[in-house]
Amino acid sequence: MVDLIGQYKKIQEEVDTAIMNVVQSSAYINGPEVKSFAKELEEYLEVKHVIPCANGTDALQIAMMALNFKPGDEIITASFTYVATAEVIALLKLKPVLVDVDPETFTIDCDALERAITPRTVAIVPVHLFGQCANMQRIMEIANAHNLYVIEDTAQAIGAEYVMANGLTHKAGTIGTIGTTSFFPSKNLGCMGDGGAIFTNDDEIAAKIRVIANHGQTELYHHGEIGVNSRLDSIQAAILRVKLRKLDNYCEARQFAAAFYDKAFDNNPRLKIPAKWVNTTHVYHQYTLVLNGVSRTAMREFLETKGIPSMIYYPIPLHMQKAYTDPRYKHGDFPITEQLCNHVLSLPMHTELSTDDLQYITSSVLAFVNK
Ligand SMILES: *Cc1c(COP(=O)(O)O)cnc(C)c1O
Repeated sequence: MVDLIGQYKKIQEEVDTAIMNVVQSSAYINGPEVKSFAKELEEYLEVKHVIPCANGTDALQIAMMALNFKPGDEIITASFTYVATAEVIALLKLKPVLVDVDPETFTIDCDALERAITPRTVAIVPVHLFGQCANMQRIMEIANAHNLYVIEDTAQAIGAEYVMANGLTHKAGTIGTIGTTSFFPSKNLGCMGDGGAIFTNDDEIAAKIRVIANHGQTELYHHGEIGVNSRLDSIQAAILRVKLRKLDNYCEARQFAAAFYDKAFDNNPRLKIPAKWVNTTHVYHQYTLVLNGVSRTAMREFLETKGIPSMIYYPIPLHMQKAYTDPRYKHGDFPITEQLCNHVLSLPMHTELSTDDLQYITSSVLAFVNK
């Protein structure tokens, strides 16, 4: 699904040097590489504060801890997402309120979102799923009208851009109150281990996030509140500095692969290609087809015989997961999510796909569906 070695080989010298510099410096934790990376990411995203942390799940958790939510407060998020989004809400004893997604873009359905608001709602967590931004214009309008915080889960969409109705373009994750991301190796900006970051333009919230991510420490050995220990390693920061400089090229490589797939599959009645929405660029963390009248299992088996991996993101909706069973929700409550879970299939998507690879994958897919 991804070719991390192929990508590494192309930047091996730079990455190896960056790693060895950290090894030689012995500044393994909170060293200058971490500060430089945060600063460079602030510049790239055009956001005031980037606070690195240990992973994308921590980033979501710390963001929620920084906003002073109280147990039982309701947080609205999409039912079609990776578990981490809802996990941290539940972990903090907040109440995840799920809403269905749009069948075209796979991101949160804003009409359903509006209907889910109650007096206990405190925040919305849109997920920029598969590399495309949710409808941030509408989400911000709803949030402003109801005085809600917005935490953008940008783990799959770093580098994507969103154009607001006023014509201003923003990087994904910098429109809401807080944005969070992950540097898990297979993410669009991935390190060689775990990593994450939190973004905000709000000085006070940024200060609070820094304190929480560092044991609630306000000054050395003074702990103003209960925090967590969540840091980005210096070695990972050094690697990310190298890769951040290539991020736009990486996005373009993914878009090239997606365009090749689109061209091959468009107008095929059995394959629905991912919709592109005008207000947002798509950075294709995943290239996800919706199958129509084809057996997904048989197709995956066929592709496997051709040496082509494929994945189902995500096979089980949140409300059908054992840990998230809730008397409020039952099978059939989120029909779009359930339909997608049964019919989506993601094809290999990464920065190293050659035209030959793409030709081989598309002709294999078409050989199966047109059989
Ligand atoms: C990967 C991912 C996360 C979690 O990131 P980790 O670094 O693995 O903790 C959260 N949300 C979404 C949508 C993700 O894809």
